[in-house]
Amino acid sequence: MKNRIAAGGIAAILFGLCAHAAANTQLDAATRQNAHDIFKQLIEINTTDSVGSTTVAAQAMAKRLLDAGFPKTDVVVLGPNDRKGNMVARYRGKSGSKLKPILIIGHLDVVEAKREDWSTDPFQFVEKDGYFYGRGTQDMKDSDAIAVTDFIRMKKEGYVPDRDIILALTADEENGKSNGVDWLLKNHRELIDAEYALNPDSGGVRPDKPQIVGFEATEKLYGDFQVLATNPGGHSSLPTPDNAIYHVADALTALQKWTFPFELNPVTREYFMQMAKIETGQTAADLRAILGKSPDAKAVERLSQDTHMNSVMRTTCVATMLSGGHAPNALPGRAEANVNCRIFPGHSQEEIRLQLVKLFNDPKLNVRYRSDTGELSDHGSDRKAMAPPPLRDDVMNSLRSVSGKLWPGYVVLPVMEAGASDSIYTMNAGIPSYGICGVAVERADDRAHGRDERLKIDAYYTGVEFYYLFLKALTTPAG
Ligand SMILES: [Zn+2]
Repeated sequence: MKNRIAAGGIAAILFGLCAHAAANTQLDAATRQNAHDIFKQLIEINTTDSVGSTTVAAQAMAKRLLDAGFPKTDVVVLGPNDRKGNMVARYRGKSGSKLKPILIIGHLDVVEAKREDWSTDPFQFVEKDGYFYGRGTQDMKDSDAIAVTDFIRMKKEGYVPDRDIILALTADEENGKSNGVDWLLKNHRELIDAEYALNPDSGGVRPDKPQIVGFEATEKLYGDFQVLATNPGGHSSLPTPDNAIYHVADALTALQKWTFPFELNPVTREYFMQMAKIETGQTAADLRAILGKSPDAKAVERLSQDTHMNSVMRTTCVATMLSGGHAPNALPGRAEANVNCRIFPGHSQEEIRLQLVKLFNDPKLNVRYRSDTGELSDHGSDRKAMAPPPLRDDVMNSLRSVSGKLWPGYVVLPVMEAGASDSIYTMNAGIPSYGICGVAVERADDRAHGRDERLKIDAYYTGVEFYYLFLKALTTPAG
């Protein structure tokens, strides 16, 4: 997930990035070794934006596939420059198949990591106390390695899927200006065009109660807004009632007291329905009470006390930065705050900006949209967060059946991600995208982007088994 939003990811918060292994996964020795070696190789190639190269990682993965017998024409490394390469590999399905391919996307880049912050070298693959340590062990070189391993495993078996499966390992999801999914869609759409996409960068398995296999079916839209007041200023011994700091403070106080209306979409409805089965007592009753034709306001209010629930129920906006004034003894000429919003699908940034303007109701304030790159504009994008894709029966049934094998008793649950992943690009390109990750991380052990990032060794190998079984379930013709 993206650097700036990872902490807000529902999947990350509720489910861990992906958790704790189920028992008895029996991988054959060759697959296990291959899975280990590929993971180690990826971790030890630095793919940070500052000094790393996704091209080196892309080429290493391409070589693995070519060595395993994939034809040269089906494995390519390409990108906008020599440091931001992406790998695209096509696993050929039955010849003459009329079915459109399935696309798997995984980002190769990782967040920066400093040696002095870590107990071990973040770019060394260290095995210790039942864990693999290294930058990217959770986000998301684990899933990249799993996909490559399973491509090789299926190829060696001679497995022929009922359609092509495409794997795109890409640059700049976390940082940087060369997002690989975006670049591929704009420049080589034909290489990755698909009926739907799987993105293991979100979703995840939670082994502690409630035991859940979460998959991301929709995402909120991210939006930053600058709230700015300016004044002529002056000497602080002659205060005036009109003060830039007070204008901004009043606006933020209004924001604190404001809640956006409760909303539902097919994904959150299913989520709350499943949660009602898991939860007990008042919470379970409240969950049922918000799903009816006229949601019970008291139930909405009680559930909103839980920050995770609240984030799934509505658009949220919160003050995240504040500055103003230039001297202790001067009236402030300027004060500004950043308001960070996570917008419920179906609304645009501009719609939310106008709502903030209305809420603040202060002509002295300027509310401007702040883009990803920091530019300010008087108008946010009118693009709405994509409506959730349909929960396809084939994907859902395969996910339920494979999850049932690896994690018996776990509830399979759709989630709306409060953060953003590369699925935003595939979704906007009209490719329904599902965040499905078979690697389990305990909630307390979510270290993506943090120090001493690590993954349980068992969880990793279970993940190898998960995607293998899952891809086969998706691409084995019935009967
Ligand atoms: Zn990620």
